[in-house]
This record gives sequence, structure tokens and C-alpha cells, in this order.
Amino acid sequence: MERTLVILKPGTLQRGLVGEVISRFEKRGLKLVAMKMKQLTPEILDVHYAHLKNKPFFPWLRDGMMAAPVILCCWEGFEAVRVVREMAGATNARNAAPGTIRADYSLSAQENVVHTSDSVENAAIELDRFFVPEDYCEYSSPLNQYIYAPDEK
Ligand code: UDP
Ligand code: MG
Repeated sequence: MERTLVILKPGTLQRGLVGEVISRFEKRGLKLVAMKMKQLTPEILDVHYAHLKNKPFFPWLRDGMMAAPVILCCWEGFEAVRVVREMAGATNARNAAPGTIRADYSLSAQENVVHTSDSVENAAIELDRFFVPEDYCEYSSPLNQYIYAPDEK
């Protein structure tokens, strides 16, 4: 099973959408294996969004990600990185496909509800950025036989 990082952005917390957004991943069948609330810092955001450092909007992005705490989640599932990213939808929420989280809850290229890892490789790097091994909870998933076929793991 793959693991991927989802960050519920500050606006998601302020707008009271934390439960609804988490519920969408739960209902899809993904397994929540780690979760915490954190106030992000300039230092961690400089690393997390290093690929955008030279963009004119970077200061706004960083301020927006520090405007309130975020909720960090690790979701586990078969092909979870791609599945979760597709559930989020296009970066610019105005272009996101109907039914995606960004389309259903936002209208902005910046204030777009969730961060999701964009590849298996980056998911591992990003999870290490925010979680330590003790943060991950091991527990059985008795409904897995109703969520996956035997070869989907
Ligand atoms: N972002 C922005 N304006 C843009 C592109 C991105 O404000 O034109 C912000 C937005 O919050 C986005 C984040 O920067 O979620 C990271 O950008 P990335 O290209 O990695 O998009 P994502 O992986 O979040 O879809
Ligand atoms: Mg990205």
C-alpha cells in the first residue's frame, strides 16, 4: 500500500471544512495512519515549496500557509498517491473538475483547501518532513475485504 501526505490548509480549518474534507478520504476507503495539527513556519515552507521560491506569488503562498494551523494527514491505500491527488483536482480551483475537493470547496489558485503529494517519491520525502516514525499508528482494517480485491495491495 502507498502512503501520501495531505495538508488541510489554514483556510480549511478557518472555514470549518476539516471534517468534511477528511470525510471524503475516509468514504473513498483510504486509511488514516497519522494525523496532527501544526502551525507551519517560514523555514519549513521554504523547503516544502522550494519549487515555487522564485514565483511572484511565493510570499502570499507562504503567508497563507501560516495564517492559521494546518492539519497534516497521512493516508494509506492502493495507489493512494495518484488517487488522492486526483481527488484534490487542479491547482487552480477554478479549473478543477467538478466533484474534486478543490472544485467543490474553493475558487482560488492559492486558497485551494488541500496540499497533496504529487508522486510516490515526493510523498515519502514530504511525509518525512512532517512525521516521525512514532506518529504512524498500526491498526487492523477489518473492512479491507469490502474495499479491495485480494491482489489490490
Ligand atoms: N499556487 C499559487 N498560485 C499558482 C500556483 C500555485 O498560489 O499559480 C499555490 C497553491 O496554493 C498551490 C501551491 O502554491 O497549491 C503549490 O503549488 P503546486 O504547483 O505544487 O500545486 P499543487 O501541487 O498544490 O496542486
Ligand atoms: Mg505541489
